[in-house]
Formats: sequence, C-alpha cells, structure tokens
Amino acid sequence: RKPPSRKGSMADVPKDLLDQIKRLEELFTVPKEKLKEITDHFVNELAKGLTVEGGSIPMNPTWCMGFPDGYETGTFLALDMGGTNLRVCEINLPEEKGEFDIIQSKYRMPEELKTGNAEELWDYVADCLQQFIEYHHEGEELDELPLGFTFSYPATQDYIDHGVLQRWTKGFDIEGVEGKDVVPPFEAALKERGVPIKLTALVNDTTGTLIASAYTDTDMKIGCIFGTGCNAAYMEDCGSIPKLAHLNLNPKLPMAINCEWGAFDNEHKVLPRTPYDIIIDKESPRPGQQAFEKMIAGLYLGEIFRLVLVDLHGNQDVKIFEGQDLGKLKKAYSLDASFLSSIEEDPFENLSETQDLFQNKLGITTTKPELELIAHLTKLIGTRAARLSACGVAAICKKKNITSCHVGADGSVFNKYPHFKARGAQALREIFDWTTRKDPIEILPAEDGSGVGAALISALTLKRCKEGQ
Ligand code: BGC
Ligand code: MG
Repeated sequence: RKPPSRKGSMADVPKDLLDQIKRLEELFTVPKEKLKEITDHFVNELAKGLTVEGGSIPMNPTWCMGFPDGYETGTFLALDMGGTNLRVCEINLPEEKGEFDIIQSKYRMPEELKTGNAEELWDYVADCLQQFIEYHHEGEELDELPLGFTFSYPATQDYIDHGVLQRWTKGFDIEGVEGKDVVPPFEAALKERGVPIKLTALVNDTTGTLIASAYTDTDMKIGCIFGTGCNAAYMEDCGSIPKLAHLNLNPKLPMAINCEWGAFDNEHKVLPRTPYDIIIDKESPRPGQQAFEKMIAGLYLGEIFRLVLVDLHGNQDVKIFEGQDLGKLKKAYSLDASFLSSIEEDPFENLSETQDLFQNKLGITTTKPELELIAHLTKLIGTRAARLSACGVAAICKKKNITSCHVGADGSVFNKYPHFKARGAQALREIFDWTTRKDPIEILPAEDGSGVGAALISALTLKRCKEGQ
C-alpha cells in the first residue's frame, strides 16, 4: 500500500519548523553517491576482517561447512535466545526433500535478565528447556536430543559446539560472560537438572537464516537479520580466509562466515553519523561498538527519533510542543520501532492516528505542523535504515562477485516496518545502477533460521562427524 500523499499540507508549517525539516532531511538523507562510497569501503572492510590482522568487522568463521542438500533427516531441538523472547523448538526433518515439521514454545525473556548475572541467565535458559521437554515428552524414556543453540551475539568459534562471546550487543550487559566460552556454563545448568540434551552446534541467527533459506531455495546466498540487531552471513571458501590458513584446511571447503557487520565503520570513516547517532553510542553500554547497527537496527530507531524531538524542544529557536509536559518523551528508550511503524502507517490525511499516539502514549497534544515534522522525521529515519542496510548486502555481493542471487532476510524491522523492503530494493538499484525490469539481487523473506536453520546445521554437523571430516 502506498502512503497517501499529503500534498500541500506543508503550506501551513511555520518557518522555524520548516527549517528544521530541511535540516533533518540533510542530516538523514543518504544520496546514491554516498551509498556507493559506503559500499566500496564495506567491501574492503569485509576482506580485512578475514585477514590475520583483522579489522573492525569480526568476520567470524562458524564451522558450518556447506549448504544442506534438502535430504537432511532426524529430530532436533533448537533454542533461540533472541532479544525479546526465548524460543524452544523441536524440528523433525523427514525423508522428503526440503520438508520439516516444527513444534515450539515461547518464553518471555525477562528484562532484568539482560543486565543481571550469568548464573541467572543460564538457569533461566535451562529451566525453559526442561519445561519444554517435560511438557512435550512427559514420561518418555529419552535418548539425548541434539540441540542447535542460536546465540545471536558475536562469538569466536574454534569448534562448532563452542563459542567465546566477543561482546554483548543489543543492550545486553551480563557480567562475567564476555571473553568466555558460553557452552560449559550452559551445559552445566542442563546437567544439574538432568535434562537429556546434547549441544551439537552453537549458531548465529544469520547463519541459521542462510542455511534455512538455502534448504528451500538454492538461489539463497546470504542470510540477513534486520531486527533488534542487524547482521549477515554468507558462504566463503576456506582458501579465501587468510586467518584460517594455519589450519591447512582444504581451500575448496565452504565455510559460513558470520560477518557481524553491525561493527562496520566503528572507526567512523564513512557513515554519515548525526549528532543523535553520537549520543546513542555514548549512552549505550558499549560505546565505540556496533556503529553501523546503531544507525539501522530496531533497538535504536525509536531512540534516534526521540533524541531528535527532545533536541528540537530544547532549541530556543524552535517552537515545538510548547507548554507540554515532556516527562514521558524524555525517558530513554521509551519508544520502540513499532511506534515509528505506526506513524509511517498512519492512513489518515490529517495524521490523526499519529496525533492519538502522541496523546495516549506520551501525553503530548500535537499541532498540525508538529505532526508534519513528526511524519517527515519518521520517514527519514526509516529510509536511512533501509538504505544503509542495502550497502551491506551490496558489499557482500561485490566481494563474492555475485551478480544475481536471493538474500534471505528475517527480523522485526524487515517483516514489520513499513516500506523497509521497497526502500532497500531501491537503494540496491542505485548502488548497482540496474535498469532491468527484474532486480538481479533480491532480498526476500527467509525461512525460520533460528528454528529450522539451527536444526539443519545440527544435522549437517552430525553428518560431517560421521563422515570423519
Ligand atoms: C549481533 C549478531 C546478530 C544480530 C541480529 C547483533 O547485535 O551481534 O550476532 O546476528 O544482532 O540478531
Ligand atoms: Mg531473533
């Protein structure tokens, strides 16, 4: 659905607000030439991440070594520890090509856990798994079930069933986990409870997305998450990963790389950061990290919006929200990406739904010109996120000389944020100067990566072990 045009509505906007709209437009718009410049720098940074010296993008080898052929079989558990929910799935891969059955339970991830301590975290995770097993396999004698654990944070892996957390992202800040292997304490918590589960693979959500998507569509070459966080994975060959050269692996063997591209441009060389991006970074639990992610991911979109409005209100030359109580708006992270989604989706010419949102959620009564500025700002933030995201996709394709493929994408922003897909596709067209009727590289909704993907990676791992690879 196209947004209705509100032509002519800017006529009544006073000069101070109009000037601000113009200023914001300049700050947040990423023109075609800039997209290309970012993409080219991105290609170099991806390559740098694979070298022994490394760069700011981690480019983590995942030990997921190859695509599924569609004939994987078996029963697997999958655990998804995302930002909002904890999900446990049991996946059955039958003999039929590309088929799967899945049952799943979701558990709330209590907010306090994200900044609590490690023991509480692993206890909670193990409790959820235990509940799942007790509920779905009551009274059964169980052999140990293989588990694919989707742990969506940057991890260094020397083996597929281990992973040292490099750093927390997405606002997590649990003491005593960074720099350590997350698997032993996780397994200890399971053992304590006598839960019959064997961790087979520790998986990133992007790798899971890549593998799950390739299971049903062999054109899928990249897996992306545009959600609370933002990242991508793709298949490299071992011969092109200098930092693994010392292992003397067969150079032709494939190896999925979890890029952790959220860390792109941590040294602030090309991204058009605004003063608001700088505040987000400073106030975050990990300043200096995830520069790219902080401009794009769902966790931050509402916060960028909020910071702009608070700044305008504090600006003496701008009359906005006069005489209103900004108490609620001044609370950090009080607005999430779904708030912006609702504004972009406002079907009414007079922005009455946006007006209601401000009234009900923030206790702010808005004027018509203020609503115009709000609608503009939202669109600018959402468009910038989609366009910058496209640079990452374009960079992987350029690096791998991929001229046509499918990209599997998942995450709340990709699935729910209005126009995100179309804006991303438009940016890709500009980066590659495509004029064809059909885009050669398309970003499409992915299969369930942290469920089916994690199960498939477990199946591939067990098969590889059996073959003694
Ligand atoms: C994490 C990645 C993850 C992405 C999407 C980022 O913050 O570092 O590991 O893939 O979020 O969930
Ligand atoms: Mg997730």
